[in-house]
Amino acid sequence: MTFSKGILSQNLFEEASEILVGGVNSPVRAFRNVGGSPLFIKSGNGARIVTEDGQSLIDYVLSWGPMILGHAHPDVLAAISGAIVNGTSFGAPTRSETVLGKLIQGFFPSVEKVRFVNSGTEACMSAIRLARGFTGRRRIVKFDGCYHGHADSLLVAAGSGALTHGEPDSAGVLPELAQFTSVLPYNDIDAITSLFAEVGHDIAAVIVEPVAGNMGVVLPKPGFLETLRSITEEYESVLIFDEVMTGFRVHLNGAQSRFGITPDLTCLGKVIGGGLPCAAYGGRAEIMNFLSPVGAVYQAGTLSGNPVAMAAGIATLNLLKDGTAFEKAARFTSDLASELRDRLRVARIPAQVHSIGTMWSIFFTDHPVTTLTDAMTTDKNQFKRYYWDLLESGIYLAPSPYESNFVSSCHSVADLEATCEAVSKSLSC
Ligand code: PLP
Repeated sequence: MTFSKGILSQNLFEEASEILVGGVNSPVRAFRNVGGSPLFIKSGNGARIVTEDGQSLIDYVLSWGPMILGHAHPDVLAAISGAIVNGTSFGAPTRSETVLGKLIQGFFPSVEKVRFVNSGTEACMSAIRLARGFTGRRRIVKFDGCYHGHADSLLVAAGSGALTHGEPDSAGVLPELAQFTSVLPYNDIDAITSLFAEVGHDIAAVIVEPVAGNMGVVLPKPGFLETLRSITEEYESVLIFDEVMTGFRVHLNGAQSRFGITPDLTCLGKVIGGGLPCAAYGGRAEIMNFLSPVGAVYQAGTLSGNPVAMAAGIATLNLLKDGTAFEKAARFTSDLASELRDRLRVARIPAQVHSIGTMWSIFFTDHPVTTLTDAMTTDKNQFKRYYWDLLESGIYLAPSPYESNFVSSCHSVADLEATCEAVSKSLSC
């Protein structure tokens, strides 16, 4: 498939492929899930991006989540410019780290202590190491369909036989390491209780996306997060909420506030860097103090707490504080989801439209979706058709049936109408 208005992007992709592996620096950008080549982006402003071919598109990818205030927000740009003139990196403490740390704590009271890193991958990888160091145990538990970045212990799939042993989900991950990661179906309370009954005293941590956003949007069933909390307390394992995506998106104070469950550790990323590379992990001081230089768990970073990224994060979180921007984006999201539901029903297309806060996705299936297995029942060909139809109508969605779409505070009523019209047009063809 190709985008009829994307000739220059195609040429640029061919040129990029000569030097970059697969033409991209992160696999999903290559559009392989929708069978085409990616668009090259020249600029962004508010809810729109402009391609190298000059097409203006309504953007629901938003850099995979961070741009909750839209692209090129003037206050965020001013903060970045203000920071940059003072130098871009020192590898030494700056006041901005404390400011952003305290801002984060204001949104996430469970974060008693925080450590800044450069990516969500680093945050989750480090939180796992910390949990292992804190508990002195080996095993971790994750859930099928959740993504926590590409650290070796987390690129693991459910083992074919035993419940307890995971298998590498990527070449290069050692089976010897993967065996210490158990992968369970999302939302499966029985699986978690059975696993803990078998090996609970060797489980260092359970890591979970409290609302899954990496298989499309999948909500936790009532009781799922509660069970994770109670069983980890009972066995003195560390409960890690990976809120890299859900933080500031499911709810301004995270899924932990929306569902009323306090984890031991929280991983954050995306929004907290205001579009610059920045992530963090934090939580109970008793656990965090196991980190070097106070404790024995090593973790470090040349660019960690970078002052320019801190400035972008501070500006973004300050703008989010009063809740207006989030509420506007969340209202747009629920209005869009209910319009889409109606139109799909009228067109008799089997579909599940999921949304929460400022995240949404569609599964083209009549099957309720609560696990990865359910998500996989989506009609991939239908998704591809709809994807390219919407692109032709000026709507830029995540290029995969298993990703979440995002809304910013800049998305307008006109954007909503244009999106619904594009969907109706696609369904009537
Ligand atoms: N955790 C979650 C829930 C994510 O969605 C992602 C990335 O999309 C990550 C971790 C990894 O973050 P990064 O891409 O910044 O390494």
